[in-house]
Amino acid sequence: MHQMTLAEIARGLADKKFSSEELTKVLLARITQLDPQLNSFITLTQELALEQAKAADVRRANGESGALLGAPIAHKDLFCTQGIRTSCGSKMLDNFKAPYDATVVSKLAAAGTVTLGKTNMDEFAMGSANESSWYGAVKNPWNLEHVPGGSSGGSAAAVAARLLPAATATDTGGSIRQPAAFTNLTGLKPTYGRVSRWGMIAYASSLDQGGPLARTAEDCAILLQGMAGFDPNDSTSIDEPVPDYAAGLNGSLQGLRIGVPKEYFGAGLDPRIADLIQNSIKELQKLGAVIKEISLPNMQHAIPAYYVIAPAEASSNLSRFDGVRFGHRCADPKNLEDLYKRSRGEGFGAEVQRRIMVGAYALSAGYYDAYYLKAQKIRRLVKNDFMAAFNEVDIILGPTTPNPAWKLGAKNSDPVAAYLEDVYTITANLAGLPGLSMPAGFVDGLPVGVQLLAPYFQEGRLLNVAHQYQLNTDWHTRTPTGF
Ligand code: GLN
Repeated sequence: MHQMTLAEIARGLADKKFSSEELTKVLLARITQLDPQLNSFITLTQELALEQAKAADVRRANGESGALLGAPIAHKDLFCTQGIRTSCGSKMLDNFKAPYDATVVSKLAAAGTVTLGKTNMDEFAMGSANESSWYGAVKNPWNLEHVPGGSSGGSAAAVAARLLPAATATDTGGSIRQPAAFTNLTGLKPTYGRVSRWGMIAYASSLDQGGPLARTAEDCAILLQGMAGFDPNDSTSIDEPVPDYAAGLNGSLQGLRIGVPKEYFGAGLDPRIADLIQNSIKELQKLGAVIKEISLPNMQHAIPAYYVIAPAEASSNLSRFDGVRFGHRCADPKNLEDLYKRSRGEGFGAEVQRRIMVGAYALSAGYYDAYYLKAQKIRRLVKNDFMAAFNEVDIILGPTTPNPAWKLGAKNSDPVAAYLEDVYTITANLAGLPGLSMPAGFVDGLPVGVQLLAPYFQEGRLLNVAHQYQLNTDWHTRTPTGF
């Protein structure tokens, strides 16, 4: 049962082959048995899950239908869940029970999903290895000595290990696509403003975007359908109609113009990944796509710009965790300053503190123009590069990451080495564009992802291309040994 995709589950439930309650029990038992090896969950919500599953079964018995009605999922632990701990992977929020549901959570619950729990993540979504969580590192089910990617590493590891079919995640600089690549999943970062950020604990507000992590493009379409849409509670949410993503999956790729940026194949890329990307290009050519070399000349400036903008926004967003209103408070403060200092010093981990300091520095008087303003100008140039490219091509294709998943601990002493691994994913966030990663093969037994980028609000195009690719390849069906 645990091998079923969301689409298969929906068919099975509709055909009364099993109930949501039966499926939920199987998956909860699997999580209890297997997750100790992975550490992919921070909180399990068994009681809520069984309640929601029974309610979904009743709704089906009463004639309701829907692809998500009775579907078991989990939420990355930065989506607020009413009455349930929402930790953001941090000691700071270990004691925080959200007083309300994030829009994503309430929309998916209304569609009938069953919440199995809250998944592990890098602290405040800062990282690309899921090693900065206060709850400990997450392991990659493909090789338990390797990282699963981050920051949505818990969602990725759990789905890859078949503990559940799909999960929510968020992507500020690659945190959906990179863990998808590292664990052989399909992950979609939507256009900025497509999915509500209300109730999603902010890391970098102008970059953060929620989206689905699943095994197939078809499942991403199903989950995105339940997440997307205008939300008056989020001032950056965009009032655009949500297309029927599942209906768009079967479009022909005949004549599809795929741009391959020449800058993507520079020295930093593992040549074995470059080969797999070439194979995926050939596969898409067989389906009728036309390949064109393009250029994204400002790509080289994207990492430095991102690592000014994201910490700057983080330093501002995280100022609310002061030990006064909610979250961790130090014992016996001597005075107000001592309360702030010790609460924040004890509550935040090293990577979060580093970014708060970098961000506060970049925003400070005298440095603002040199760093923050400059980074914003680069951001515009990165966006302009994409706008020019999309005049010539329909999608852009390349590797999701320059290397496969590294060993746990390998980059701990050198944060910049980890930042450089974000080179292919970060530009989509700076420009606000949608991006998808899908399985493209293996290197040393570790999965490799191919990334597709599209113009604003063309999530449907990404899902269509990925679905057609998956109908003709079987990388996405491979299961890690032991799971
Ligand atoms: N690795 C990037 C960072 O650490 C992206 C993280 C994310 O997308 N949340 O900021």
